[in-house]
Amino acid sequence: MKCGGCNEVDIHPNKSNTYKGRCYCIECLDEELRDDLIESQYNPPFKIRNHDAKNKLIMGMELETEIYEEEDCVGIQTRKFKNFLEKEGILDFYHIKGDCSLDYGIELITQPFSLEYIKKNHLLAKTLNELRKRKFDSENESGNAGIHIHIDRSYFSNPDLIKMRLFFALNQEYLWRLSGRYSKDNEYCEYEEYDYYSLMDRPLHTPKYSALNLGLSNTVEIRIFNSTLNYKRIMGYFEFVESICKYVKETSIHNIVGGDKEFGNSEESWKRFVNYSKKYRYLTKLLKGVQNVDIEA
Ligand SMILES: [Zn+2]
Repeated sequence: MKCGGCNEVDIHPNKSNTYKGRCYCIECLDEELRDDLIESQYNPPFKIRNHDAKNKLIMGMELETEIYEEEDCVGIQTRKFKNFLEKEGILDFYHIKGDCSLDYGIELITQPFSLEYIKKNHLLAKTLNELRKRKFDSENESGNAGIHIHIDRSYFSNPDLIKMRLFFALNQEYLWRLSGRYSKDNEYCEYEEYDYYSLMDRPLHTPKYSALNLGLSNTVEIRIFNSTLNYKRIMGYFEFVESICKYVKETSIHNIVGGDKEFGNSEESWKRFVNYSKKYRYLTKLLKGVQNVDIEA
């Protein structure tokens, strides 16, 4: 019989080339699946995953990932990926959608979770493993794929956010090295250029594509990270997020800017943060690769 899409290619109907009751050739099947990926999103309701209800530091990840080698099959590979998640009973942890900024990619959005939950649960490692198996990749130099991490905004007071903003503006060189991005010049992740005084009168709002996005009502979004499917690296990113969120709560502005209020001292500011973050093992590993700043014993 002929393909139900192009009506040209001869096909033998079977389970794997059937979609919504019609049989397709590979190309048409992939196109159908991709169209659906973009149009009909899979969105289970958000439900916070947290072992300890008292822990109010809740985050969520958006992971963009692409297929570079077999770009004609992202729809088919995504269907297999989805089937895997379903079989493992972890499909409801994610939203999966097509991403318009990526030619042959998807965006995977997690349910909100605490760092403790994601560390104790094996679902992320399984997921990343399957994505690699399905030929997804994330670290291509030409790629725009990123990892964005959202944090529940209710965790922060306004002074916390001012400190966070200062820290990001001051330490962009270090943050860029931590981020795994190839280029400093990324239109989807722009760093602000403020010091203490120029920031004090500004509203707590930033453009959408800022490295630290304060333009959302329910979350604060950190957009600095290059995408990766490496489990340890992603755990390091999550640890960074928890660490910086707690750090700004517990640290004075004086210390945030490295003791030099007027101009800010990035080296000193970063060093203090690195010392604060010592208890995070994945992050510490990433931080060691970032800088030559000695971690105090
Ligand atoms: Zn066809």
